[in-house]
Amino acid sequence: MTSSPQQHPTADFNAFLATFKTRLQQLFHIRSDIDKLSVKRGAPPFVLRDILAAQPMSTFIPQQYGGRGGHIHEGLALLSAASYESLPLSLGFGINWALFLQPVAKYAQEAVKQPVFDGFLTQQKMGGLMITEPDFGSDALHMQSCYQEQGDYYHLQGLKHWAGLTGWADYWLLTARRKNESGQLGRDVDFFICDSSAQNQTIVVEEFFENLGIYLLPYGRNRIDVKIPKRQKLEPHSTGIKMMLDLLHRSRMQFPGMALGFLQRMEDEALAHCRQRQVGGKSLFSYDQVQQRLSALQANVTIAAAMCLNSSKKAGTEHDLSGAGLEANAVKTLVTDLMQESAQSLLQLVGAKGYRLDHIAGRALVDSRPFQIFEGSNDILYIQIAEAVQKMMLRQKENNLLTFIRAFALTSRAAAYLKAHLNVELTLPLSQRRLNAFGQLISAIIALHLVEELGDAGYSAKLFENCREHLVQRIVTAFSGFQAMAGSTYNDAESDNSNWLDCFYRQEKHD
Ligand SMILES: Cc1cc2nc3c(=O)[nH]c(=O)nc-3n(C[C@H](O)[C@H](O)[C@H](O)COP(=O)(O)OP(=O)(O)OC[C@H]3O[C@@H](n4cnc5c(N)ncnc54)[C@H](O)[C@@H]3O)c2cc1C
Repeated sequence: MTSSPQQHPTADFNAFLATFKTRLQQLFHIRSDIDKLSVKRGAPPFVLRDILAAQPMSTFIPQQYGGRGGHIHEGLALLSAASYESLPLSLGFGINWALFLQPVAKYAQEAVKQPVFDGFLTQQKMGGLMITEPDFGSDALHMQSCYQEQGDYYHLQGLKHWAGLTGWADYWLLTARRKNESGQLGRDVDFFICDSSAQNQTIVVEEFFENLGIYLLPYGRNRIDVKIPKRQKLEPHSTGIKMMLDLLHRSRMQFPGMALGFLQRMEDEALAHCRQRQVGGKSLFSYDQVQQRLSALQANVTIAAAMCLNSSKKAGTEHDLSGAGLEANAVKTLVTDLMQESAQSLLQLVGAKGYRLDHIAGRALVDSRPFQIFEGSNDILYIQIAEAVQKMMLRQKENNLLTFIRAFALTSRAAAYLKAHLNVELTLPLSQRRLNAFGQLISAIIALHLVEELGDAGYSAKLFENCREHLVQRIVTAFSGFQAMAGSTYNDAESDNSNWLDCFYRQEKHD
């Protein structure tokens, strides 16, 4: 039996976190071996039971309902502690927090909040979010799941896939559009709490997917045909779409929590390996190219730390983040790219031994990859970041990139280091591919600004100066790629001369 949740709000968070870390350590390295566990789908029951018994979910629940308070800095620190040991575990927490508990705390009707939170605090329940449909992923606003009002409930029907915790979660936030009498779907999107254990609210899993990584978490395709009591509908403060943006932007601002522990682990693993591995009669650690990789791994940790500090101040549920797309998207895209880059770098350094699912390096590669796809494909988010900046520049009639960066609140601190590189006049508007490249550039500039703020807050000077160097280099490289971008398109026409072997024979004939 778990201890009472009411003890936790008063307990010191650092002590709580330390106990939680020790529990994960024991569970994954003494009681079981995570390298062996992680090659199988799901987890043995004792693992989840033991983790949830520490009541990590209380961190995400407001104090008046018996939780620790739902403070962003505590939630990020918890996600980070989890991702150091297991990225999928941290993603599981991130789903419960950002995609279920936070929206419920902010938008659910008062009558349902306490029973739902009690389920998390005392019965180890879990919750997730279903937005994506087989034909509507990035284009989620055109989803076809719909609902109709029938007496004192809403009848929801549709097909959803790829929702994290498929088949496991006790609660779901379901999204659907209102269907009117003539069968047309409204433009807005509404959210409903579905309690899988209640009558008429069971969600049928039609298929479980063989996901490439993140073996801990189940994914699949779900058939929705449920009747949801009216009190379980979320109440947006204005439109449902704004509520969805507020929710998604907050979630993206919280990605650095999942990223930080993972990036730190990548660095620690790489360092340990390079110190002990001898190649060509000397330690890998002593090679210049290896030092480049190690210092980049270290810089990536600093960037995620800067983002955590920033999000702790801005992502609370008291703030409306529906209009904060530029910042949230910049944070999510860059930090998830860094996760993949760090994983790639670790695998390269470890070499063949790392190319196994039961090695952290191989696993890290496949586990971190979908972070660049879910909650907004990075390709699209970069374009949206750039479009937002382009719009501001056009409105201000400002074509000089450096002048814009100097004046813009999210980039101003970076300008001093980019004077020699970005003092250029841009020709606007940009093509879509150049918008994507421009978005990558802007994300890195915002990161540099955040790293400067981390420095102000007393972070290790050595670390943030190393990080600044890396970011300036990244920005300069991104800018030259942006400037040099060609306009090539895929050649769809049938070509007669596209066989290299024919070319070989032709040349041989001539010789
Ligand atoms: C591991 C994992 C976990 C997930 N968890 C959840 C969850 O918990 N809940 C949930 O609802 N969903 C979840 N998803 C679904 C995820 O959010 C979607 O996969 C994502 O929104 C992209 O949709 P899609 O896969 O249909 O890709 P598509 O929309 O088909 O896009 C594929 C690619 O096409 C390109 N593209 C698309 N549109 C444009 C454009 N306008 N311009 C240029 N390029 C474009 C981009 O490269 C994009 O990556 C998860 C997915 C994965 C893989």
